Amino acid sequence: MARTPEAFKKNQDIDAYVRHEVTEIDLSDRRVRVENLDTGKEWWEPFDQLMVATGAVALRPPIENIDAEGIYGITTLKSGMIFKGVVDREKPRRGVVIGGGYIGLEMAEAMLMRGMEVSLVEMAPEVMGTLDPDIGAIVSQSLIDHKVDLYREEALTGIEVKNGKVTAVITENRVLPADIVVLGTGVRPNSDLAKAAGIPVGVRDGIIVNERQQTEIEGVWSAGDCVQTHHLISKKPFYVALGTVANKQGMVAGINIGGDDAVFPGAIGTAITKFMETEISRTGLSQKEIEDLGWEFITGKVKTRNKPGYYPGAAEITVKIHAEKGSGKLLGGQIVGKQESGKRIDTIATCLHAGFTVEQMVFLDLSYAPPFSPVWDPVAVAARKAVKEI
Ligand SMILES: Cc1cc2nc3c(=O)[nH]c(=O)nc-3n(C[C@H](O)[C@H](O)[C@H](O)COP(=O)(O)OP(=O)(O)OC[C@H]3O[C@@H](n4cnc5c(N)ncnc54)[C@H](O)[C@@H]3O)c2cc1C
Repeated sequence: MARTPEAFKKNQDIDAYVRHEVTEIDLSDRRVRVENLDTGKEWWEPFDQLMVATGAVALRPPIENIDAEGIYGITTLKSGMIFKGVVDREKPRRGVVIGGGYIGLEMAEAMLMRGMEVSLVEMAPEVMGTLDPDIGAIVSQSLIDHKVDLYREEALTGIEVKNGKVTAVITENRVLPADIVVLGTGVRPNSDLAKAAGIPVGVRDGIIVNERQQTEIEGVWSAGDCVQTHHLISKKPFYVALGTVANKQGMVAGINIGGDDAVFPGAIGTAITKFMETEISRTGLSQKEIEDLGWEFITGKVKTRNKPGYYPGAAEITVKIHAEKGSGKLLGGQIVGKQESGKRIDTIATCLHAGFTVEQMVFLDLSYAPPFSPVWDPVAVAARKAVKEI
């Protein structure tokens, strides 16, 4: 791990209790009930200020045998190490991934690289549900190109086991033999403890916090995967479980608990991942999210190359952006492409933070030289397409 309890004590004079669980929060007497998971010893620990940073819990489909041997959720460093250990020892041949989000895709890649046969089952029409379906379709195709048996619009309906160990995954349409199964079925805020104590929760039961990361209870703070977050574009609360957001919120909460003053303005859901050589990134609102808000919008989409066509290593990139109809104010963007495509999302994210219109994006003074980019960066080309739509 990044830092041990000994380092916490030595460097910051913090008593860090690992292998201890908080089982109850008592807001009226300002104390938490702590259990030592090794000795079973329990006690009440008093507090003046309380920080709740309990993270997220993985969602497990409510299906019989879901806890059978050979079925893994990759949620912690330890669970990743256990999975790797099993693959090293037992050398499974057939791996099945349930769910085509970023963890499902990254695990499919890891298993392919171990020479396994990989199937992926996804309920939605395309993988990566945080993308628009036409962009998700490019990612789906990349899985198929790499010989992943991809089953879309198929829900998991059952698990076959023998002697307590998984042997097959059953979907609406087929039985997929499996030596090992990975669950990538999403997470929810781990807020049960806070909720039971009477700390108010909102979207998907994420703990409600203000811009200083304070909950609705005086002296109780929260941050990270257990809270709901303010969306800077929709201006509504949403749920996002990413380390980028958790880190910033944690810093803001810490500064405020320490007696200074800091504000976390909100987030726009910027995320990046990859599957083999395909880089995938998104920011702001997707088509469906804009439609759900009832906003009118236009789209600029371009399929081009991330370097001039004549330059060695030039590779395909698709950029899609959405903007408000009329004003042209940028609402969101998505990128799928080969190497060195994905991080271009940060240009779009920065424009979103700045409140730019697509016209302003066209004239961004972005860098250019043939080893890096075409003279018109693909992001600017997508903006030009959007301007034409307006
Ligand atoms: C496989 C995987 C890959 C990821 N990759 C990325 C990525 O590439 N980019 C990115 O931005 N994000 C990524 N994330 C998400 C990122 O890890 C989380 O958003 C981040 O760790 C959240 O930080 P947190 O402090 O809120 O929660 P956590 O890091 O989950 O920490 C919560 C801690 O609280 C402890 N806890 C919970 N309940 C109690 C209790 N009652 N008593 C005591 N302790 C308790 C837990 O044991 C845990 O250690 C990934 C997540 C996973 C699972």
